[in-house]
Amino acid sequence: MTRFNQLFIEGAMVPAHGADDLPVTDSFTEEAFASWRSASPADVDAAVMAARRAFAGWAATPPAERIAAVRRIAGALREQADALTTAISREVGMPRKLAARIQVGAPLAAWDMYADLAGEFEWETRIGHSLVQQVPTGVVACITPWNYPLHQITGKIAPALLAGCTVVLKPSELAPTSAFLLAEAVLRAGLPAGVFNLVHGSGAEVGEALVRHPEVDMVSFTGSTRAGRHIAAIAGEAIKRVALELGGKSAALVLPGADLALAVKTTLAGCMLNSGQTCSATTRLLVPRPLLGAAEAAAVDLLAAYRMGDPADAATRLGPLASKAQQQKVEGLIAGALAAGARQLGSPADLPPHGFFVAPTVLADVTPDMAVARDEVFGPVLVLIGYDGVEDGIALANGTDYGLAAAVWGPVETATLAVARRLRAGQVDINGAPFNPAAPFGGFKKSGIGRENGRCGLEEFVEPVSIQLPA
Ligand code: NAD
Repeated sequence: MTRFNQLFIEGAMVPAHGADDLPVTDSFTEEAFASWRSASPADVDAAVMAARRAFAGWAATPPAERIAAVRRIAGALREQADALTTAISREVGMPRKLAARIQVGAPLAAWDMYADLAGEFEWETRIGHSLVQQVPTGVVACITPWNYPLHQITGKIAPALLAGCTVVLKPSELAPTSAFLLAEAVLRAGLPAGVFNLVHGSGAEVGEALVRHPEVDMVSFTGSTRAGRHIAAIAGEAIKRVALELGGKSAALVLPGADLALAVKTTLAGCMLNSGQTCSATTRLLVPRPLLGAAEAAAVDLLAAYRMGDPADAATRLGPLASKAQQQKVEGLIAGALAAGARQLGSPADLPPHGFFVAPTVLADVTPDMAVARDEVFGPVLVLIGYDGVEDGIALANGTDYGLAAAVWGPVETATLAVARRLRAGQVDINGAPFNPAAPFGGFKKSGIGRENGRCGLEEFVEPVSIQLPA
């Protein structure tokens, strides 16, 4: 087992002084393959103060130099693509082939996308006699979850650095390896000391110490609504900037006249991706009631294709969940739904002998009040719900505490677009349109505050300052 006791502070790998060694578990073998020493309170303070000292210089560095530095980081990270894929696939459980493309290839491309966008960004504009400058927000604490570790780190660190902010990153304790490889890339890229800092540790101790630190100007958080609420309360008390990317319970709304077979296939695929551990996964399939039988039949036919197994095996379509706790939570929600009257479609699949697996599950006879239809499951579980008219369908789609993503399926006409416009979600896909990393991403309601990705992602880390020029 590899033991890492290093943090990255003020441009160097330094020993961590925390009391805990946090194990990183292979979600297929169920064995720890690495452990990370957590940061002590003094380490957290050192990381934040390093970021504070570096801030003025980095903020004053011309954007072109910041862009060049970020491109060097992207280049150094790209050399580690294989190591990133292996680590993330073991940590999270996503099949390796998929992980290479989605967990690693896409975020690596995003580093360059953000650099391109920063090159086009209007850092200074004129409004009448005012000079409006976009200035970096300051020292940012970036706290990330485990399900798409490199993607989530990239969506914060790349735009924050480009904007001129300095950062302290605390990755998920379940999936910290990509953050360590990023620190190595930063070292090779030769960033000024203190611009990027990395600490490891639990959310309750190290994460919260960062949020509370008086020299942190902004907290950029991705994770659960539960932790987001707590962080927002602490940040609110101190009037810190906060960006929150939280949970979801996204609906796919099938309108009359839609290609039902394609809608079921695509929704199921989105729901099963990363074994359901995707915040924007479409986990509720809303179907006109007369079409429920056909939708059920289509789903049953597709279930067998989700072959469970070793994520390293090219034939595996569905890997394990990331942790035992997550597996137990999902099993509990399925059992609760069945006890409340839901019906499981298809015959139960055999689970591999080890690994935190949950079989691909489609539930029918689900009512909107059941926990499985309201709460984020974060597992391979799709619920089918019938509706009685388009207004009812829209109300159901919008009728949860969340508002992160949604999908609409219908004839390619303005009516489908009109329905899409009425969904209270930050991202709405029509007829299976693919993810667009340059488009804003974020949520309404308890799905969060703010937007990441593309130009909006960059704007999260700047504040406009108006300088009034004399006549
Ligand atoms: P989590 O909230 O448990 O942890 C996320 C991060 O926050 C971890 O680094 C954790 O250590 C830290 N943390 C936890 N409590 C904290 C506290 N009190 N103070 C400071 N930091 C704290 O979430 P998770 O289980 O790692 O991730 C799954 C959740 O993330 C799901 O709810 C999912 O929907 C959400 N998510 C949202 C998005 C999005 O973009 N909206 C993307 C991915 C995941």
